[in-house]
Amino acid sequence: MDVSHLLDELNDAQRQAVTAEDGHLLVLAGAGSGKTRVLVHRIAWLIQVHHVSPMSLLAVTFTNKAAGEMRGRVGRLLDIRPDGLWIGTFHGICHRLLRMHAAEVGLSDTFQILDSEDQFRLVRRVMRELEIDESEHPPRQVQGFINHHKDEGRRPGQIEHFDRSFQSRQVEIYQRYQDYCERSGLVDFAELLLRTVELLRDHPERRAHYQARFGHILIDEFQDTNTLQYALVRLLAGDGNRLFVVGDDDQSIYGWRGARVENVAHYNRDFQPEMIRLEQNYRSTRTILEAANQVINHNDDRMGKSLWTEGEQGEPIRLFSAYNAEEEAEFVIARIQDWIVQGGRPSDGAVLYRSNAQSRLFEQALLREDIPYRVYGGLRFFERAEIKDAMAYLRLMHNPHDDTAFERVVNVPARGIGEQTVNRIREHARAHGQSLGQAATEMVAQGGLAARAGSAVGGFLQLIDQLTTARPETDLAGAVRIVVKQTGLVAWYQKREPADRAEAREENLAELVRAAEGFDQPFEDEQAGLSVMASFLSQAALEAGEHQAERWEDCVQLMTLHSAKGLEFPLVFLAGMEEGLFPHQKSIEEPGRLAEERRLCYVGMTRAMQRLYVTHAESRQTYGQTNFSRPSRFLNEIPAELIESIRSSFRVGSAHSDRPVAEDAGGFGLGAAVRHSRFGFGTVVSLEGQGPNARIQVNFEQAGSKWLVLAYANLELVA
Ligand code: ATP
Ligand code: MG
Repeated sequence: MDVSHLLDELNDAQRQAVTAEDGHLLVLAGAGSGKTRVLVHRIAWLIQVHHVSPMSLLAVTFTNKAAGEMRGRVGRLLDIRPDGLWIGTFHGICHRLLRMHAAEVGLSDTFQILDSEDQFRLVRRVMRELEIDESEHPPRQVQGFINHHKDEGRRPGQIEHFDRSFQSRQVEIYQRYQDYCERSGLVDFAELLLRTVELLRDHPERRAHYQARFGHILIDEFQDTNTLQYALVRLLAGDGNRLFVVGDDDQSIYGWRGARVENVAHYNRDFQPEMIRLEQNYRSTRTILEAANQVINHNDDRMGKSLWTEGEQGEPIRLFSAYNAEEEAEFVIARIQDWIVQGGRPSDGAVLYRSNAQSRLFEQALLREDIPYRVYGGLRFFERAEIKDAMAYLRLMHNPHDDTAFERVVNVPARGIGEQTVNRIREHARAHGQSLGQAATEMVAQGGLAARAGSAVGGFLQLIDQLTTARPETDLAGAVRIVVKQTGLVAWYQKREPADRAEAREENLAELVRAAEGFDQPFEDEQAGLSVMASFLSQAALEAGEHQAERWEDCVQLMTLHSAKGLEFPLVFLAGMEEGLFPHQKSIEEPGRLAEERRLCYVGMTRAMQRLYVTHAESRQTYGQTNFSRPSRFLNEIPAELIESIRSSFRVGSAHSDRPVAEDAGGFGLGAAVRHSRFGFGTVVSLEGQGPNARIQVNFEQAGSKWLVLAYANLELVA
């Protein structure tokens, strides 16, 4: 058998990793050195050369998108259908295991996944019931508390706290929240992992079964595993299974969400793997690599790696200092157009930013120029309100005890069921240990609600009933169609919203029918005996949680730095490189978090293959306020000789004109506080021209924004 194609295009160290004979392995290597490639080739090697059954391999990576790519690459290398392979994310794999063993861990077999927005609503609801003040315990923080403890494997009873302390309140909420989830058959993301760990830990026969099954466990992006994920790996590895772990400590960027880079050290301690380092980078030009290496060098406590490349020097990194965020967006889009004019494709380009909200200006500019784009990590399809509404109806049809779904749509479309009525149903449910659906049914039957409210609630229950009976048993798309038609969602949105918004929602609902029509039940779900509807609901929740786009198209990619991990693009923009934005304000005071921001910068820079732009804006509107900020410290960490600077000409839209630039006219720099005899106090927001022609724009507290000729304005600097 000819297996040379599995080793072609691998360097010596890569080949050594792919063909390693015994024991565990750790490939610790920098960005673009071929870690993911090695892992894919390893899978193919094991199957083809060692005749390892595809069923006894387990490969884990960080996103569904990465898992899909991995699956495709293995399939192509071996020319097989990769259906039976267990390649997925930790969450996906745990979901699959729980579906097969729901009863053993006390879950109903109709359990549904709670995405993080649903979770937030449920936390608030629980807090309302416990009459806990939201200003004292912000629900987002409580949600974080719950997830943090779950990620560390702790149930409420295992959290140390003093009676009546602040912490004890949060534990109480956690407990109550958990009770709700149990009763309604809901499982949040952290719970997927925790339950699976409990399944394997507490059921020796299950543990033995899976240990015997997965002879080879391969993990990509290991530096971002959390405590539970590592516990799971240990449980599955047992004594005899082989681990193949790849990662890069310099790319650990999820510490804020519980990832523990110490897992690399724990792995060394617990498994004594052979260590292989890959040092050649195949992705980026020498300039880009050198710049990224210099930036990450500013971190202490690194495991230490050096990367080199045989690639060419390449173009300098281009730094653009925009006058404001609008100009930054225009500049970026103009450079993408240049790229396309030069023969490049839209999908070669990626705009990366620190926070989601930054996408909007780029989206607008792209729309204006009619360039196709896709936003990863924005409000995706399954997160949109109308889709979640329709899904809630489907969930209730599937499981009438789903309280989250009940709450979402009991009065959507509005049917005259007020908060007070819902409160009474909640109380009844609590008092009798029932789901909201059960409580409502009982109250309606017993006349336990006022006449008007009673008939409205009765109408809602009847609708759910009708939908359930009308739905063809096996036809998923048919069920979705019935929901869209009979619930009146479209008409309701039309009544409440401007025509274009309502139209978009209607289109989205039609798209949901199409999604259902095109839904292929995953092989593993089918094997687990899951109904098509249940698979569809789970898939939607998993996708909504991950913020990934569904289809690949030739379009510009917009995404946060976090979601760019593992990917590569010929043309990359790192936008909004400003102190306070990136590094993020919250991280500036804490050295540990600042180091994580720097790793994020390293991840961002190393996504670029050929051309890298770094941009920042001197001013930016947030919440209707103009904020001024200094360029990010990370920009100063790039060696000057690798950078070519491009200055803004200060006025929006004039980036290409050659108007002279006013540097800092007599101390009246951008952001300076000034006083004018007539207009009063204000802030300098713009400068233009030089010498006698210098003009200055000031935003006055009382008089609003004014352009003044500096020479005549008689402005006073205010300390
Ligand atoms: P990251 O840390 O960003 O996840 P990585 O280490 O996983 O990066 P890969 O994505 O596997 O790196 O590889 C980076 C690029 O280099 C890919 O385009 C890959 O195809 C290419 N590459 C890797 N090894 C080789 C090789 N030996 N010869 C040619 N190209 C290679
Ligand atoms: Mg990789």
